[in-house]
Amino acid sequence: MTDNDAALAAELQAQFDRQDVGFAVEPITTCPHVPTPISTHVFLDQACGACQEPHENWQCLTCDTVLCSRYRNGHMVDHFEQAKDHAVCLSYSDLSIWCFQCESYIANERLQGIKEVAYIAKFGEAPPNQSTIKIVDGASGSGSGSGAGSSSA
Ligand SMILES: [Zn+2]
Ligand SMILES: [Zn+2]
Ligand SMILES: [Zn+2]
Repeated sequence: MTDNDAALAAELQAQFDRQDVGFAVEPITTCPHVPTPISTHVFLDQACGACQEPHENWQCLTCDTVLCSRYRNGHMVDHFEQAKDHAVCLSYSDLSIWCFQCESYIANERLQGIKEVAYIAKFGEAPPNQSTIKIVDGASGSGSGSGAGSSSA
């Protein structure tokens, strides 16, 4: 693991830690565009399907297409322009999830599963504080922001 990876891992751990507290770029928690069902697999080694760009790709969480970012050749933006309901995508750079419709990052319990899969694929280990990650897909028992920021065990 390089220093860069270590720094990124630390930042991601902090993000997982602060998921419902908010940080610099505050994600929204309610996005009506999160697809159902949501992807359960990531394809981190895949190049952009349009230009073979290997870096900074995104995965459409509606159809699993891997395309490059707006900072490369913008093929994920093109994908959203062509299929307006494919709005939610996962960044392979920092594992953030972006909605083109909401124009915001999203932190949502339904997205924790795919974020965890991506984290494991990227770093080869489960994210920290796993016990605090609740995947709640039903109507019942959606806790309201309890237990955030408690001290480590
Ligand atoms: Zn949205
Ligand atoms: Zn591309
Ligand atoms: Zn798509």
